[in-house]
Amino acid sequence: MAKGVWIVAELRDGAFRKVTFEMASTARKLADQLGEEACAVVCGSGVAGIAGELGKYGIDKVYVADNAAFEPYTTDAHAAAVAKVVKDNDAAILLVAASFQGKDLAPRLVGKLATGMASDCTDVKIADGKLLAIRPMYAGKCFGEIVVSATPQIAALRPNVFPIVESAKAGAVEAFDPGLGELKTKVLEVQKEQAGKIDVSEANIIVSGGRGMKGPENFAILEELAGVLGAAVGASRAAVDAGWRAQSDQVGQTGKVVSPNLYIACGISGAIQHLAGMSSSKYIVAVNKDPEAPIFQKADYGLVDDLFKVVPALTQECKKLLG
Ligand SMILES: Cc1cc2nc3c(=O)[nH]c(=O)nc-3n(C[C@H](O)[C@H](O)[C@H](O)COP(=O)(O)OP(=O)(O)OC[C@H]3O[C@@H](n4cnc5c(N)ncnc54)[C@H](O)[C@@H]3O)c2cc1C
Repeated sequence: MAKGVWIVAELRDGAFRKVTFEMASTARKLADQLGEEACAVVCGSGVAGIAGELGKYGIDKVYVADNAAFEPYTTDAHAAAVAKVVKDNDAAILLVAASFQGKDLAPRLVGKLATGMASDCTDVKIADGKLLAIRPMYAGKCFGEIVVSATPQIAALRPNVFPIVESAKAGAVEAFDPGLGELKTKVLEVQKEQAGKIDVSEANIIVSGGRGMKGPENFAILEELAGVLGAAVGASRAAVDAGWRAQSDQVGQTGKVVSPNLYIACGISGAIQHLAGMSSSKYIVAVNKDPEAPIFQKADYGLVDDLFKVVPALTQECKKLLG
């Protein structure tokens, strides 16, 4: 019978991404409710040394495939390896990150394992011995409850939503043969983001700008505030489509889904497609000169004023408080 709650660890530059610890802590919680083991699959190059770290977040057993073929990431290598180890061990539940990489990998796993999945989950529970996944639908207008009837039940967890809980476990590490056949894809070049830039999907604080910024040069005032707060700078699609910001900064339905502790929206109207990407932020602050802007319906704090007046003043006050 299928058993165990598994996660697919996500790595970047040889280290676990924060979402991996969120998934590990969640897997621990679910495994305790089922009275089963929490396991992790780690596929990477030169990662055997760090695999044991996952024990600290409640993982009982870490299955590692250390192979140069996993770096940089390709769908076919990762999907083949994860599907193999999960199938060989008859996992009941498999958690994947709802990140760019996880969103690429999970559907391929669904195909290989002939199962189903719940994507972009903001909560997961055990109900009647099965995984009950909860996810926002219709751009956050309602929540759906999903039970995948086949095994493994796959759920993709939205980053920055699930708490990280440390545990006293010492995870056992076991190497496995990923059984990679001939791989069909080869990464020829990786274009990296500018060094030192905080990725919006990992940031605790995001300062975002929209069409109200009026031009790319004005994002400097958001960069300054972000610098003081240790925040990432995000953007609406209008700002990205205008060529003012990189697509990787876009927040929303067709951009990144973010859940920071603090989201400061400047000159963003709050279209439903933008809200779909940031409405699960813990605190939302909106700066907009239009009191009727829909963003104010979601905001915890709203400032109806000219952002070119508000943002520099906010930066000065934050400097005094934090500097
Ligand atoms: C299929 C689809 C997918 C989409 N995906 C996304 C997505 O992923 N992300 C996304 O953001 N959008 C997305 N959109 C677009 C979305 O519908 C909106 O068009 C977009 O979010 C608007 O961006 P904005 O709020 O920056 O611009 P606007 O709606 O033009 O709002 C600009 C705001 O700035 C305010 N403003 C202007 N000047 C100032 C000032 N000096 N001080 C203060 N406030 C000022 C205005 O009052 C206004 O509210 C998508 C649309 C579709 C159809």
